[in-house]
Amino acid sequence: MNGFRCLPLVLVLLMLSVDAFAVKRDYGLVPQQVAPGTYVLLGFNEHFNFRNGGNIVNTGFIVTDAGVVVIDTGPSRLYGEQMREAIAKVTDQPVVKVFNTHLHPDHFLGNQAFEDLPEAALAGTIEGIRQNGEMFNESLYRLCGPWEAGTRVVVPGLVVTPGVEEVGGHRLRLIGYDGHTDADLAILDETTGVLFAGDLVFHGRAPTTPHADIGRWLASLDALAGLSFSVLVPGHGAVSTNDDPIRQTRDYLVWLRDGLKRGAEQGSDMAELLSPREPPASIRRLAVFAAEYQRSVAHLFPAFERAAIERGRVVQELD
Ligand SMILES: [Zn+2]
Repeated sequence: MNGFRCLPLVLVLLMLSVDAFAVKRDYGLVPQQVAPGTYVLLGFNEHFNFRNGGNIVNTGFIVTDAGVVVIDTGPSRLYGEQMREAIAKVTDQPVVKVFNTHLHPDHFLGNQAFEDLPEAALAGTIEGIRQNGEMFNESLYRLCGPWEAGTRVVVPGLVVTPGVEEVGGHRLRLIGYDGHTDADLAILDETTGVLFAGDLVFHGRAPTTPHADIGRWLASLDALAGLSFSVLVPGHGAVSTNDDPIRQTRDYLVWLRDGLKRGAEQGSDMAELLSPREPPASIRRLAVFAAEYQRSVAHLFPAFERAAIERGRVVQELD
């Protein structure tokens, strides 16, 4: 009798789960034109979650006379497929080439939707994806759930050689930097003046640092600031027509570095640093600041501690 009474509930649960699988997940990608033939798909300034499906990243594409060049492919197979559909609504030109700016999963897990095409990245990025791609894929599945279903790592097969590449009348300057990761590709379209900076530049959002070298990152930002561009597309956050996002990223990294260095020199432990002492308002109001700052302390502080101990030893020896 009891089992009989439970049956309708079981049926309802079954129907609900069937319905959940039938939901068509839609990233709602709408290309924003930022220059002639040049479009950006803007992500949310949020963390990965089940609601945004990993769409926290900016991707872009350039329509040239020789086809479409794609810059980053988003966080999942589904995103890549929907990006390709969104491109087809803008132009009849076929996609001819894909670039991945670096190894973070929100920038390359959509490669699967373009695997019939040449996919290119810096050598360090290719190696990083080869080594860690599956781990990234699994962690995004945990963070974004069904949006990631059926996503497979596709390692770019083409090594980017820094320099100028002409595609259908666009002069694309491919520049190899580092600091956000070991290999960060920036693409400056010298024909339109649009600079795709990848995750070297964050805008209105606290930068992520799991693979960062802050010193090298700051040097790359200085180099980026010296480029001649009219539109700046950051890896995360709003597109800009000036270099404010570069300055903002730089200010954050300097503040982070100085705080960690001071903490290490004063013998603070990690737990003390997790609540920063009075961050400037310009830093406190960055999206996802608190969580991103805490992750950065966890990633970076041990190296600052080691450096402080090393410096102490050198000072003692000199004494
Ligand atoms: Zn990144």
